[in-house]
Amino acid sequence: MAVIGAGFGGIGMGVALKRAGFEDFVIFEKGADVGGVWRDNTYPGCRCDVPSHLYSFSFAPYRDRRIRYPGQRQILEYLHRVAVECDVMSHLRLGAAVTEATYLERRGCWELTTAVGRSVADVVVFAVGQLHRPYLPDIEGRNDFAGVSFHTSEWDHRHDLEGRDIAVIGTGSSAAQILPSLAATAARVRLFQRTPHWVLPKPPVEFGPLARAGLSLPGAHHLYRQALENGADAVLAPIMRRGWSARPAAWLARRYLHRQVPDPALRAKLTPDYPIGGKRIIFDSHYYSTLNRPNVELVTEPVAGIVRDGVVTADGTRHRVDVIVYATGFRAPEFLVPVQVRGRGGTVLQEHWSTGASAFFGLAVPGYPNAFLIAGPNSFNPAGSNPGMKERQIEYILECLRLRERLGVAAIEVDEEAMRAHRRWLDQAIDKTVWPATGPSWYKDHAGRITNPWPASARTYERMLRQHRPEACFRAASADTPYPRHGRSAHAVTRCSTTAASPAAS
Ligand code: NAP
Repeated sequence: MAVIGAGFGGIGMGVALKRAGFEDFVIFEKGADVGGVWRDNTYPGCRCDVPSHLYSFSFAPYRDRRIRYPGQRQILEYLHRVAVECDVMSHLRLGAAVTEATYLERRGCWELTTAVGRSVADVVVFAVGQLHRPYLPDIEGRNDFAGVSFHTSEWDHRHDLEGRDIAVIGTGSSAAQILPSLAATAARVRLFQRTPHWVLPKPPVEFGPLARAGLSLPGAHHLYRQALENGADAVLAPIMRRGWSARPAAWLARRYLHRQVPDPALRAKLTPDYPIGGKRIIFDSHYYSTLNRPNVELVTEPVAGIVRDGVVTADGTRHRVDVIVYATGFRAPEFLVPVQVRGRGGTVLQEHWSTGASAFFGLAVPGYPNAFLIAGPNSFNPAGSNPGMKERQIEYILECLRLRERLGVAAIEVDEEAMRAHRRWLDQAIDKTVWPATGPSWYKDHAGRITNPWPASARTYERMLRQHRPEACFRAASADTPYPRHGRSAHAVTRCSTTAASPAAS
């Protein structure tokens, strides 16, 4: 069996396989380390805006009585610890970017191509995440810039930005976290905003003395996690659907903006004109206040081009800068790119998705037997914890593998009708959200189809998965290839045959 990607999804899948008594699997990872986005994003100020008691695996609960929101390095350390303690490290192939995955129909398994060769695996789990390929906008003259420039997820630490003149393009969650750190030492920071985002304050990074004392009580960490889970489902999720909390949240955000930014002209520029939740809400307590600093300027004229020494806006102003930081987000709707995935009949998945990426609960696609996704289309939780969503997907994938074993077939795939029914449910659920009424964001593909977020609460996702058992929604992909029974351990979930084969060129 092959897992592709060693972020939260891939590590979680590896741990689940080990716990199910399954040893014969390989995790292919393109990078030089585990961690996914928490390995790649090292920009100043990078930390998760979801409390780690929630942003962690339930089987490896976060138990810190001091820090509520750990920084990037601490989250990376957490993932390392999980991988080491759960004995997943020996399954890793680092620096092994999978470029092709082809379903071998007669054998009911997958052939995977990396730069060093080919492997065959009976099952493949794509755990590549949604936010890992940087998006660099096609701004005229971008390559003409003579200074230093980089994307937030490819921070170039060789350059000291102290005392420099910096342009930050984009005002999403990454920009909001970077701005206070940059502004503290830069000569000047110009923040180029196309659309203002909704911002809500978040509690301090560290717990206060009362919370610390509370967390020392038996069972308190678990209760706190549950409270966060309940809070996200009951308060945050309804915001996206114009539910009861949308108005109070918008009121709170406006009041927060009013208190933080005394200048009415600046406040007007920062006031969103689309419903709260239309784009991912920024949770940050230092972004607005930093915009009041004398060395920070919010530029709302559209970026028209980039020249040798700076950024030119549509009004013709030339903003001379030494450094350009692209906080312009990720190619999130291009799922699985650059892996070329060929399923039954040689159909390329990206072509199959030419009318919009879609998958059964974000985890399986008809025509792609024994292939599963973690964090696939419409399974990003914009209102809570994504490690939690991934755990639900991992549990479901294990159940699919058990079903395959029970059926005694080489391959199973999600039924077309189950997919159609799920699509119908998704369409009506998405229609009830604020996303159709909001402009472009990484929630949507180039044609405006909403391909990334899950349109309900995490609890609804869990409940719906329970109601859509693999027995009812998956079927044997081919009746004539029997389940491979040789060498299977008594506890094996599935037979795994990930073997290094001939080099790709041969
Ligand atoms: P993002 O939310 O996609 O924001 C990209 C920004 O770039 C937007 O403000 C966008 O403007 C702007 N932009 C894109 N092209 C532009 C152009 N040609 N000219 C001017 N502006 C342009 O990206 P992100 O901030 O990296 O965040 C992505 C996601 O990563 C977040 O939504 C979140 O899920 C995750 N994240 C999480 C955390 C955390 O703490 N958990 C932290 C950082 C990121 P428009 O809005 O007008 O399109």
